[in-house]
Amino acid sequence: MQQLRETASTLMILNDEIAQTYSSYQNDRKLFCRSGCGECCLHPGIEASVLEMLPLALYLYEQGTAESTLEALQHHELDGCYFYQASSEDRKSGQCGVYPYRPAVCRMFGAAGYRGREGEVLLSICKVIRTDEPAAVIAAEQSLTSVMPPMMMNHKAQIAQLDYELSKQNMPIKEATAAALEKVLTKAWYADMAG
Ligand code: SF4
Repeated sequence: MQQLRETASTLMILNDEIAQTYSSYQNDRKLFCRSGCGECCLHPGIEASVLEMLPLALYLYEQGTAESTLEALQHHELDGCYFYQASSEDRKSGQCGVYPYRPAVCRMFGAAGYRGREGEVLLSICKVIRTDEPAAVIAAEQSLTSVMPPMMMNHKAQIAQLDYELSKQNMPIKEATAAALEKVLTKAWYADMAG
């Protein structure tokens, strides 16, 4: 259990650095997120590793809500992430209910670099930003040869170094959260048994 806590605490520091890096890039390139927008959290394809969800799972365990969250995840059928708190009828506005513990993938939502088939640097930009900031999007794409965006794969690799086993597979965020909660609950059970 102690080792999980240490890994999670190192990851929290790394996560904050990652958030800062992506947020600075977005600000510098004027790729601003729409205020109050929660569309990223509604996306059905968000994936994370078990390791990425570990800080949240430990937090929920400390709060005494690990078991109930695990149960609730199994019955969650709304579109998007279980932790998303929608504030509009169409659910497009809202906020993260576990913001300080959100995984690295959520810190890269707005604009992030990746490699294309030929190894070229490409930019993944959210569709809302594409609609709201078309000129900034064109400028950012044109500047890719001179201004390197933060690269998703590099940060994923940095995180994986903390625990290869727990980061070897990406899965839907709901499943990754459930697996992280199960991991924490199992470790806690053995720790209790050992006294
Ligand atoms: S963890 Fe938070 S930021 Fe990430 S998808 Fe869920 S609600 Fe959105």
